[in-house]
Amino acid sequence: MERLGRERISSEASPSKVARSSKSTRSLPRCELRCRGCDRTFEDDGFVLECPTQHEPALLATEYGDKRFEPDTRAEGVFRYRQWLPGPRTLSGAGSSVTYRSEKLNRILGLLNAWVVFNGYWPEKGAALETPTFKDLEAWSVLSRIPEQHDGVLVIASAGSTAAAFARACSLNKVPCLIIITEIGLPNLRFPDPLDPCVKIVSLTGFTDYSDAIELANRVSQIDGFFAGGGVKNVARRDGLGTTMLNAVETMGQIPHYYFQAIGSGAGGIAAYEAARRLVDDGRFGEELPRLMLSQNLPFVPIYMSWKSRRRELVEISDDDGRRQIQQIAAQVLSNRRPPYACKGGVFDILTETRGDMLAADNLEALHAKRLFEETEEIDIDPAGAVAFATLIKAARYGGIERDALVLLNITGGGRHRQQLDKKLIAARPTLKLNEKEILLDETLERIVGLFS
Ligand SMILES: [Zn+2]
Repeated sequence: MERLGRERISSEASPSKVARSSKSTRSLPRCELRCRGCDRTFEDDGFVLECPTQHEPALLATEYGDKRFEPDTRAEGVFRYRQWLPGPRTLSGAGSSVTYRSEKLNRILGLLNAWVVFNGYWPEKGAALETPTFKDLEAWSVLSRIPEQHDGVLVIASAGSTAAAFARACSLNKVPCLIIITEIGLPNLRFPDPLDPCVKIVSLTGFTDYSDAIELANRVSQIDGFFAGGGVKNVARRDGLGTTMLNAVETMGQIPHYYFQAIGSGAGGIAAYEAARRLVDDGRFGEELPRLMLSQNLPFVPIYMSWKSRRRELVEISDDDGRRQIQQIAAQVLSNRRPPYACKGGVFDILTETRGDMLAADNLEALHAKRLFEETEEIDIDPAGAVAFATLIKAARYGGIERDALVLLNITGGGRHRQQLDKKLIAARPTLKLNEKEILLDETLERIVGLFS
């Protein structure tokens, strides 16, 4: 294959959804982007989401000039890992993950070296994410990637926790933001203070789900003055989520053998893989990538089914079946109907490369795991974290995990009830409500634009 030269995006170009490139010769930059499909590299303009070359779907990934893992001990929250975040800025108010080992949990699991990376609110452990899930980490990372002088409206589609994270971080930093969220996700939007008016919430009612939110967000993002948060395609989101792995390895001193996490889109799993890859390249924390043990909530398990059938293509689930299954799962955040499974650098590739596996837990197993965790650790956890914990319990009992293996469990959200007890939280209200018919209309786009004029 022809080796492509180092290329860059012209800095005077307006923010583009697809990178434009021109040749230049430069020394190794702090951060550049590499396409997982064609291996081409280019400079980050703070917005680019896709490779400019036409080819099969592929993720872009960051590459950092600095290969040695050196947390910035003076920086706040997630910015402790700023050397491996694409955004050049640091913002104040950000939190971080907390990693700990629990004797009681190890006893329950029958393991010796299982650790928890906890994302949420848990003052005794020093966990204080603004919204109690690891989506907080990606929100701060995305905002730090947006150039300071930019005044467009950031568009975010969400099933709940991403909306909360972006609404809060954008409100604190006065970044104009449109949140498109399913009605069922609205209870996630509770905050210690009212949101700044720069944040507008559109809720989807009726027979709609997360995928409808994504589609509407894609349409709005095409309008002048709006730009997409980009979901899993945004390198800042994945590198923000990847700081959970960095935090864990900084605490444990070693890359784990197994990594357990529940996934909807799989962004967190891909992020954990990418962060572990950098740590392997550093060389001081182990030579092997962790085996990714990713999980979904039965009956909605498209990635699990695709992986178990050993195929690269995502299984076909009809829209109606998908919607019905999603309405039955306890962990609503795990409800992406079009996850980045087949694309280059996506979930299929990372499971293959790490000799990982897909696992599943039903609502009853998740509920049991949730209660067990809460009784043992004395902190409440979200259903998604409970799904991951349920699959770890099963894998430790029947899955052949070595007793002394270094195991990392990502509790992706926790301390929600604890936060409500400690702080008086105010529910944010949607500015606009749209049903499944209204979201298809062109005049709906005009109404959304009108919210910001
Ligand atoms: Zn490419």
